Amino acid sequence: MSDSCDDVLRHAFREVLQRLENAARQSGRPVPRLLAVGKTQPAAKIAALAALGQRAFGENYVQEALAKQATLGEAGLEWHLIGHLQSNKAREAAQAFDWVQTVDRPKLVAALARHRPPARGPLNVLIQVNIDDEASKHGCRPEQVGALVAAIAAEPALRLRGLMAIPAPWPEPARRREAFRRMRSLFEVLAAEHPGVDTLSMGMSDDLELAIAEGATLVRVGTALFGARPPKAAA
Ligand SMILES: *Cc1c(COP(=O)(O)O)cnc(C)c1O
Repeated sequence: MSDSCDDVLRHAFREVLQRLENAARQSGRPVPRLLAVGKTQPAAKIAALAALGQRAFGENYVQEALAKQATLGEAGLEWHLIGHLQSNKAREAAQAFDWVQTVDRPKLVAALARHRPPARGPLNVLIQVNIDDEASKHGCRPEQVGALVAAIAAEPALRLRGLMAIPAPWPEPARRREAFRRMRSLFEVLAAEHPGVDTLSMGMSDDLELAIAEGATLVRVGTALFGARPPKAAA
């Protein structure tokens, strides 16, 4: 990467960290963790951000993550899968990631547990909730969280850490905030019953302040760090 690219990234990184701090201060909540979302971005940009101190990276596609991991080597990074996971990719995901944020059905729980290499320790998982009940979105319904929690708790190869959501992109901030608030209610019930539950993953470049105000402990940020993504080629 050229020095000027590094400067742009350094500036964007500093701005995002500042936004997290400001939002936390204004709402009287702890500063959340930052997950840098690198989908479609080259491994060189991940490496540049890692060199600035960022450690947790999110990827949407298993193959893309594997390619980047091969390029970057053992850089001590923490990899989160944040895209929909098909059961036939569960083996690769259970091997390659430290966290899977998109667990939304019992079959996937079983597949991830079966394929998690014991030497890697338990896989951290979040249950993805389709909080706005959108037909186009993955994630379980709020009523299904309890059954998934039980399924995950029965698997020593998995460690339940919390919940993740991608609310509908309502133009009105109040409606987005309302979805984040419903997530917080679900999360508080879960955390009260399960001491290991500590992560509420919600908020992206456009709405991280609203998510932090409603208690996000981890925000997933791509565009605000890396700039606009190139249009995705048809899959
Ligand atoms: C792409 C993506 C993000 C990051 O979105 P930005 O708007 O670029 O910050 C966060 N979460 C998920 C699940 C994503 O797919």
